[in-house]
Amino acid sequence: MVLQPSAAGDPARHNLDPHLARYAARTEGMTASEIRALFAVASRPEVVSLAGGMPNLAALPLESLASQVQDIIAQDGLVALQYGSAHGVPKLREQICEVMALEGIKAHPDDVVVTVGSQMGLDMITRLFCDPGDTVIAEGPSYVGALGSFAAYQARVVHVAMDDDGLVPELLEEALTSAAAQGRPAKLLYTIPNFHNPAGVTLSVERRSRIVEICRKHNVLIVEDNPYGLLGFDGQTYPALRSLDPDNVVYLGSFSKTFASGLRVGWVLAPHGIREKLVLAAESATLCPPTLNQLIVSRYLDTHDWKGQIKKFRESYRERRDAILAALAQHMPQGCTWTEPEGGFYVWVTVPEGIDTKAMLPRAVTARVAYASGTGFYADGFGSRQMRLSYCYPTPERIKEGVRRLAAVLESEMELVQTFGTVQRRPVSGPQTPGPDTA
Ligand code: PMP
Repeated sequence: MVLQPSAAGDPARHNLDPHLARYAARTEGMTASEIRALFAVASRPEVVSLAGGMPNLAALPLESLASQVQDIIAQDGLVALQYGSAHGVPKLREQICEVMALEGIKAHPDDVVVTVGSQMGLDMITRLFCDPGDTVIAEGPSYVGALGSFAAYQARVVHVAMDDDGLVPELLEEALTSAAAQGRPAKLLYTIPNFHNPAGVTLSVERRSRIVEICRKHNVLIVEDNPYGLLGFDGQTYPALRSLDPDNVVYLGSFSKTFASGLRVGWVLAPHGIREKLVLAAESATLCPPTLNQLIVSRYLDTHDWKGQIKKFRESYRERRDAILAALAQHMPQGCTWTEPEGGFYVWVTVPEGIDTKAMLPRAVTARVAYASGTGFYADGFGSRQMRLSYCYPTPERIKEGVRRLAAVLESEMELVQTFGTVQRRPVSGPQTPGPDTA
């Protein structure tokens, strides 16, 4: 076993964890994400948390769901409570194809593998494709849970910048060319085209075919992660990358944001050749996804106006998005900029030079507001001037109050910067790889 000499020789770390010398080398990159570390304090009622990305489930019809669950167990309990196939319940896989058709995807149910949330899909894809040191291209910033999976399998993440239209194709091409020139060609492009977590931007339609072509040319498999695609505030949808190049795109979907995150039902739609390996990987991870939860989702899609329900979710997120954008415009000090999402859960804020959002966070929490600092969304320590604000969960009034508090903290931080130069109470540590965190 390879062990970092610093870890093995550090008596303080040994005292904290007597198992330290036993861990596999791959655990070195596994650290708690900043969001998780903050979770306990940020969930105190007096703190307005703009940190976590929990879906707001208040609009769900709980009573009718309860009676559906009762029916499933009463009528079909011996199936619902039994093991199933690692591939997933056949009827649900058919219904998933209907859901994906809303974004232009034509798929066969055989090519859908049901997973325990799309997070499991991310883990399996990384497991199937990444050896230690392999290069994965991801947007900068990127989803913290994906970075956690890449770190767990010791992949090397190269970030490519976005602008208001999402991933920049020219920069993608440059990154792919340079990775190949270094003898470390990229294996995967991991991308979140719609209502990006954490950046809040959406890949323009024109760029989609360009990105698909570039990846073809460089022999890179695309992993398209799309949990928010149906949450466009105007009901708008965009053609999935998968619909443009079915043979070179692995698509990850989820019911977490459009129905119920706690059921942990997601899926992978893979090119046909990959499907079998995926089923084997799923089998070794969980034997099968929970049958009861799959039947609940399937019955819900059958009997509920699920599109109407998504519309309700969209309206509640839109109201919150409007509240946060208005509050940011009203309160944020000069020099701060932010993205203006057209769907999804997140606004990405950039603060003036000299301010370190990670160092500022304890002061913000003391002022009773929490956010996710930017470095957690990069694998390379970048992002110290950025933060993610999630508007999905608090009420519009709480959001406004949270932004007001945050702006006051920023203002006093900016005064300190003007007086003393950079305010860095804690240095931003080098490469930072957050652990999986669904928030
Ligand atoms: N991908 C992205 C971009 C996400 O934001 C999330 C959840 N926050 C996930 C994947 C994981 O979702 P699930 O609940 O389906 O595992």
